[in-house]
Amino acid sequence: MPNQVWLNGSIVNAAEATVSVYDHGLLYGDGVFEGIRTYGGRVFKLATHLRRLKESAKALRLDLPYDVDALASAIRQIVATNGCRDGYVRLCVTRGVGTLGLNPFVCAKASTFIIADNITLYPEALYEEGLSVITSSIIRNHPQALSPRIKSMNYLNNILAKIEAIDAGVLEAIMFNHQGNVAECTGDNLFIVRQQGQDPVLFTPPLHAGILEGVTMNVVIDLARTAGLEVVRTDLTRHDLYTADEMFLTGTAAEVIPVTKVDGRSIGTGRPGDVTTGLIGAFRSLIAQNAPED
Ligand code: PMP
Repeated sequence: MPNQVWLNGSIVNAAEATVSVYDHGLLYGDGVFEGIRTYGGRVFKLATHLRRLKESAKALRLDLPYDVDALASAIRQIVATNGCRDGYVRLCVTRGVGTLGLNPFVCAKASTFIIADNITLYPEALYEEGLSVITSSIIRNHPQALSPRIKSMNYLNNILAKIEAIDAGVLEAIMFNHQGNVAECTGDNLFIVRQQGQDPVLFTPPLHAGILEGVTMNVVIDLARTAGLEVVRTDLTRHDLYTADEMFLTGTAAEVIPVTKVDGRSIGTGRPGDVTTGLIGAFRSLIAQNAPED
């Protein structure tokens, strides 16, 4: 894929797409971002991602230098320039160039850049076998410190949890919240399935558990309800994880991926269950049919 980057209104070579060392995005992690997929050249859930970016920026009192329509056109422009059919878009808005102090309001103008590139997915075998994950000792951000609803450039607690996962020889870690309930993974939302009587029921933590409101999570909730499944948003404990019948993660990069082992305990049969494989199929056919942009 030719590697051009959209930077503050211009298309430049990736090697020349640079930000200042005085940018507060770099100095303090002061910025917001979105990760977005393209499928067949269509920008999946673009409007939803841009709404979330706007909300993240608002929470941080970061003035976006471009409105949502301008950002949408910029994304389409760089996607077309790079011939990005099935790829990944990273849209970042940093606070901009400031001084060495914390005050964000001395930064004259936010800096915006958009990367459209390939994405490394989990290998297909893991969609068939399921992931092995651990629970992390690192909690997700306390919502009274930095709300996980804000998709900010400060991902350090998730990075610490990811390091624990890598050290343990697995690819993902489940993070709990400050109350000891399940929040989410380092880069994905989490669902479990429990058989209740004759029917499988999906459970996933509520937004107040301190999670990112995942775009993929909401798509999957809609697909599940359309398929007649009950979806319950409720607090989940470590025990709920260990005793689930099925588990899967959702995220822009991962899409829908089964989890078959947590902290050395097999989930359900140890193989991806029917509900999970059904939802993977439903998600893939949504993408194949038309990958809606709103
Ligand atoms: N949680 C976290 C912490 C994330 O970074 C992400 C995105 N990678 C998700 C959940 C999934 O969100 P989405 O479906 O919008 O990509």
